[in-house]
Amino acid sequence: MQPVLRFAPSPNGYLHLGHALSALIDFEMAQSLGGRYLLRIEDIDATRCRPEFEQAIYEDLAWLGIRWEEPVRRQSDNLDAYAQALGKLEAQGLVYPGFESRAEIARHIAQHTGAPWPHDPDGSPLYPGMSKQLSPDERASRIAAGEPYALRLDMSGALNRTGALTWVEIGTDPHQEHDTLMAQPEKWGDVVLARKDTSTSYHLSVVVDDALQGVTHVVRGQDLYQATSVHRVLQALLGLPPPLYHHHRLILDAEGHKLSKSTRATALRELRRQGRTPADIRRMIGLA
Ligand code: GLU
Repeated sequence: MQPVLRFAPSPNGYLHLGHALSALIDFEMAQSLGGRYLLRIEDIDATRCRPEFEQAIYEDLAWLGIRWEEPVRRQSDNLDAYAQALGKLEAQGLVYPGFESRAEIARHIAQHTGAPWPHDPDGSPLYPGMSKQLSPDERASRIAAGEPYALRLDMSGALNRTGALTWVEIGTDPHQEHDTLMAQPEKWGDVVLARKDTSTSYHLSVVVDDALQGVTHVVRGQDLYQATSVHRVLQALLGLPPPLYHHHRLILDAEGHKLSKSTRATALRELRRQGRTPADIRRMIGLA
């Protein structure tokens, strides 16, 4: 079976040096495996994604010397696939609407005394589960009344079904070491899978797309390492084959923070405008 790799940026800003590292590690791994290389545009957040950023992704990647297969998959063109997957999870009784706003959740947690409230790996407080006990009738009538809600995965119910899960982490050289790691999805609590106004989420769509595109190797930054635990649960519940994973080092700024799409100085187009070459970029990200 021919390996399939993908680079999956969101068009909500210009690509920066961190994206260059990710796209190049990924592209070079595809080449060394004799695999296919796909590009996927992750544009489900309609409020932040813009066509000019998508166009810039194509230009910046081509400038770096990266080539991908056409057609490019755009998530906003595939909302039906995510709705279908959500339906399968709902049919398993593992999805419920949470009606509280972020502020209400924060107020609820502020009233809590005792041990510090647990936070997920991204730093958000775990959902306290206030809406979990609502009856089907109460849920239906609040939705019918037009209340906003987030559809959440019942994580403990999900884990009862899946049991313990692992994933295979590969090194930079895909022909070499493989580690089998224990997934820790309980760290995330009842993650959001969709909202009243957004019919999917990053976690749900990434898992569906990787399976639909036959992705065998997921290459992405360490910042998404913990998210892989959630992806493994969704894959197990949806009966999707798990790819291998490689989470690569991140490029940090002078203060040790992850690069941001809003910082002009590290944007690939800004560096190109200043006369840097693709070879300069490789040196700047330690790939030379
Ligand atoms: N769209 C995600 C991002 O831009 C990457 C998703 C992934 O590689 O799994 O951070």
